[in-house]
Amino acid sequence: MDWLNKIAKKSSDIVDRSLDRNVRVAVTGLSHSGKTAFITSFINQLLHAPLTSQLTFFQADSENRLRGSKLSQHNELHIPGFDYSGAIKRLTNETAKWPLSTNGVSQAQLKCRFNVKHSWLKKIQAQSTVTIDIVDYPGEWLLDLPLLHMSFKDWSKACRDYLKSERRQEYTQKIASTISNQNYQSQHQDEVELSESVARLSTEYKAALLDYRADYNDYGLALPGRFIMPGELKGAPTLDFFPVLNDDVLSLDWEQFEENSLLRTLEKRFDYYKDNVIKPFFNEYFSRVDRQIVLIDTCTVLESGYEAYQDLKLTIEKLLEGFSYGRAHWLKRLFAPSIDKLMIASTKADLVPPDQHAALESFMQKMVAQAKNNVGYEGVEVETMAISAIATSEAVATEHAGKKLLCVKGKEERTGESVLHYPGIVPDKPLSRQHWDELEIDFSAFALPNLTPDEPLPQIRMDKVIQFLLGDKFL
Ligand code: GDP
Repeated sequence: MDWLNKIAKKSSDIVDRSLDRNVRVAVTGLSHSGKTAFITSFINQLLHAPLTSQLTFFQADSENRLRGSKLSQHNELHIPGFDYSGAIKRLTNETAKWPLSTNGVSQAQLKCRFNVKHSWLKKIQAQSTVTIDIVDYPGEWLLDLPLLHMSFKDWSKACRDYLKSERRQEYTQKIASTISNQNYQSQHQDEVELSESVARLSTEYKAALLDYRADYNDYGLALPGRFIMPGELKGAPTLDFFPVLNDDVLSLDWEQFEENSLLRTLEKRFDYYKDNVIKPFFNEYFSRVDRQIVLIDTCTVLESGYEAYQDLKLTIEKLLEGFSYGRAHWLKRLFAPSIDKLMIASTKADLVPPDQHAALESFMQKMVAQAKNNVGYEGVEVETMAISAIATSEAVATEHAGKKLLCVKGKEERTGESVLHYPGIVPDKPLSRQHWDELEIDFSAFALPNLTPDEPLPQIRMDKVIQFLLGDKFL
């Protein structure tokens, strides 16, 4: 009997391996796009699915084939674990709070047992297990990809051009002029003194740009990602550098500059950042990912106006460039990426009445159309969707001026009272500057509803997301 079991186990392992029941899903997006809420809900839905069968569009669940799911320890022990239980505790506490946002990389692993669907496979193995690794990382880090094929001079020029905009100058003028007045060429005798001065100027430079970013919701394409989200590198000297902004220094031949000059020091830091921060990051996380989801907070950008829209569009295009690796041959050579499915999702759809979700999705789709096209062209399956990881509202039909009007109803943040809200008309395509100025839209945030750990979190279209990202692994 024992040898029979052994053979069965062995053939089952072979089938698992040949069908590759392991899948690595990466979740990214700019800060506050909803990554932490998404991962919490993603895990939560899969943990509850075998018990509640509520994921209508997730085939394995609707066909009642899910047997059980559990969280397990991921194998990459140097990556911090995603704090799922902490997130659920916060959400279900008496005074419910959103989980703490992403500020670095984390990972979770989930094992889902299911009944095999294929008739010929069933003969070898009636049940199987899918192992899902979910990796969370800041989208800001993805924006570093273009830096890999930039020299320090290229990057400095990009920063100089980026800082030319009038509204950016308001924030950066002072530090830009201090930076421009530095002596870049001559040799420094005291390395420590030089390092301290670089750190001071770099801190001031970053602070000015971060202030600007906070006020304008602009994602600062000229910033290296770790300037915004340092993660474990907070305080590390590799993050102490700033660009050369003055044209006269930029036009010189830098070959002749002294080894211990300010310029060489900055250049060294920049190159070190590329080799020791950007490359290992992409190597480790990016090239081993099978499925990717990019989250976009379209609601906030709709409220923020034309300039913010243009900035976000450009940023998302840059962010998605990483996935059009057929075009960027250098990228393929460096990392051999392996993503075969990419979902781009507009989050927080619960703030929008359901009859306007199509418009929300269409708006986001048009914003990313070019980038999506480039990715799709490379043979990666791309899907877009409007979703909510944790829905805070429900739809309510009302009447206004004799017409039926769909609103959202949720709990008022301050008083906890139930309120109806109509956010305005969500445009289904990008607008001209004038139309942006005329747009009257207000997605007021609701408080979290009463949640319990015993029930799956309320959500919108998470079942479709799960089917897209994982459906083929459950056959
Ligand atoms: P991260 O920085 O990308 O990890 O973003 P979080 O997941 O922390 O989300 C940032 C904030 O967005 C949360 O604190 C919530 O206020 C809000 N949020 C995230 N997901 C949803 C959602 O599905 N619905 C609503 N209404 N708000 C959400």
